[in-house]
Amino acid sequence: MADPKRSTITRLRLNNFFKAGGNSLDSINNLLGSKIFTREMTRRVYVGSVAIGGGAPISIQSMTRTRTEDVEATVQQIKELKEAGCDIVRLAIPNERAAKAIGEIKRQVDVPIVADIHFSASLALKAIESGADKVRLNPGNIRNRNKLVDVVRAASERSIPIRIGVNAGSLHPELLRKYGGPTPEAMVESAALEIAEFERLGFHEIVVSLKSSDVMDTISAYIAFASRFAYPLHVGVTEAGFGEEGIVASAIGIGTLLSLGIGDTIRVSLPGDPKKEVKVAHMILRMLRLRYSGVRIIACPMCGRHEIDVKEFAERVGEVTGQIDAPLTIAVMGCHVNGPGEARMADLGIAPSRDKVALFVRGEVIKVVPKERALEELTSLAMKIAGQLENNGQLNAHGRNKLAGGDGL
Ligand code: SF4
Repeated sequence: MADPKRSTITRLRLNNFFKAGGNSLDSINNLLGSKIFTREMTRRVYVGSVAIGGGAPISIQSMTRTRTEDVEATVQQIKELKEAGCDIVRLAIPNERAAKAIGEIKRQVDVPIVADIHFSASLALKAIESGADKVRLNPGNIRNRNKLVDVVRAASERSIPIRIGVNAGSLHPELLRKYGGPTPEAMVESAALEIAEFERLGFHEIVVSLKSSDVMDTISAYIAFASRFAYPLHVGVTEAGFGEEGIVASAIGIGTLLSLGIGDTIRVSLPGDPKKEVKVAHMILRMLRLRYSGVRIIACPMCGRHEIDVKEFAERVGEVTGQIDAPLTIAVMGCHVNGPGEARMADLGIAPSRDKVALFVRGEVIKVVPKERALEELTSLAMKIAGQLENNGQLNAHGRNKLAGGDGL
């Protein structure tokens, strides 16, 4: 339930945020006095075994690229996504064969499956019959409102949630006319109209998303929504863009909202291999200290003082430690000038000086080794510490490891 202290903190953060923000957020300034439903306050729903909202850990979603009716290829991609750390997988359901395939796919995977529906309420009904754990509907393009009632009833009978997935690119024409375009206000009203209809039917297992390819519009829409509703939010920037631009857009959009306490589940949208989306999502959560898992490598940018090739060394550390699940921060620094400071703050680190490299574990130099042995020594220490953490479950309330300076090494 509402935590007044947290609401105050959130309002303060919002004030600072808007002071720094651009004109496109002016209209949202009016909302600063109102309560924001942060993720601890949202209603909790379940997608299969994964909780969304009500302070549950922020789950990571992605979407397959395969034709859903190609069961073998879809199952393979779902398994790869799970291996990469994806909690919930969404499948496109453009036809009946895809809807029917959900049943067979679910028999072969153990990740909750979301059916992505556009235009056809009938397909949503078929996906629910096939065992989908959640349905995503686009309120802007479901025209048969009578059939929608059947979808809500079917979801209610099976106790599965529905995501009202508002997309700026496919808002209802009437809303576009009323607001003069796909504005954040139009997106929020689209969700609000759908919510009113669902609530009239007694249905509350709702998740909402309000995605735009414009990062600032996305942020504005989510904040505006969170000031009115306590339904859990699926956060993402749609069609974020290619490569680095897409990653930056998602990191800013998703990261800004999460840092304000808004957002219960996330999807990073990037073209290409969906595992990349999951990797970036993990990075965003780790940077915000919202999820601790795997190795984070801090590397100096390297300057004229470098004693090792930092990029190559860091890449090789990443290759060796890529499978570690325990939360570890490793600092790869290029020299002894600024290196020791950063290396001391990480779980493990190196700072080279001429032909020797100092190895740090939790702030202490535990060894000085010849440069050519540094990679092997560092990675073997990382594996050893990770093994200890995984075996002993030595994680504190924030997921940080409890190992102090070289204990037990
Ligand atoms: S750690 Fe050393 S090499 Fe790396 S950027 Fe700093 S001063 Fe330059």
